[in-house]
Amino acid sequence: MRNADRAELADGRIRLTVLGGFLGSGKTTWLRHQLYAGLYEDAFVIVNEAAETSVDDVLLAHSSTLAVLAGGCACCTAQTALISLLRKICDERTRTDSREKRLARIVLETSGLADPRPIVAAIQSDPVLVNHIVVSEIVVTVDALHALAQLRSEPLGRRQIECADRLVVTKVDAPANEGLARLIATLGFLNPGAALSGAVKGVSSELPAALTVEPESLPDLDGETERPALFPTKLRIDGPIDWIAFSVWLSALLHARGGDVVRVKGVARTPAGRLLLQSVRTVVQSPEILPEPKDDDDREDNTIVVIGRGYRAEDLQRSLARFAGASQGNRD
Ligand SMILES: [Zn+2]
Repeated sequence: MRNADRAELADGRIRLTVLGGFLGSGKTTWLRHQLYAGLYEDAFVIVNEAAETSVDDVLLAHSSTLAVLAGGCACCTAQTALISLLRKICDERTRTDSREKRLARIVLETSGLADPRPIVAAIQSDPVLVNHIVVSEIVVTVDALHALAQLRSEPLGRRQIECADRLVVTKVDAPANEGLARLIATLGFLNPGAALSGAVKGVSSELPAALTVEPESLPDLDGETERPALFPTKLRIDGPIDWIAFSVWLSALLHARGGDVVRVKGVARTPAGRLLLQSVRTVVQSPEILPEPKDDDDREDNTIVVIGRGYRAEDLQRSLARFAGASQGNRD
């Protein structure tokens, strides 16, 4: 906790929780469960997607108020958009007559590409926001299965962990995960001040003790800053997806480019229904069946977002078209 909660309430400012974590580390799942459990019930939730599309908002129906900031990352390209959105929220709050009804909390779910520190710095240095908002906590989700590999190769993964007030290790129920104790020791080494807890599908879960385990010795990543930046590619497919062909394409892609593709996520309309597809590194998670949209809000169906580096967006689209027989699709 960076400030005493009570003091923030007393000065009437909004408490802001920044939720960060690497791509696929389970931010949305964790937040969705907290909302379901009533924890951030009173909060205004902002979901930032670096891609132009957002599938996370369909998952967060339990929050009372939700805004999606899409098409840029709040730590860099969409920083100005975030500041204007927050100013607008503060403005509306000031106009609320009843003190009791006033918004007390905002939760910002960052994109997996975001470094939380520039976000916090931008809020704290904004002459308007500084009077209205206190960043009370940075929560960072850490993938029990993939975080050690990410920490070895991704400077961003380390920066996210280093700035957290609270680290939530997700997917701690994964079987035969010998690396978990080492990950916990490594987190304690990188950020000894952070509160550490475990979670399974958002529900708190016990972490193993890591007292006797040495932290991973991490390579120096300073020379790595020259690596090309991760970028999102949005793929659209017209008509129902041939599920088998698509799975073959996805497996082939992750097989060939597992090191470059860090995340695949999207909603596919298949004969079995609307499926939420997700992959983290080379692991394709079993698809989740989504409810039918209420008010025709299926614009993002058959949209797949691939986040990675080291290839061209056009090549990815061409490859999908070839493989999945989706050559009639792929417009943007
Ligand atoms: Zn950014």
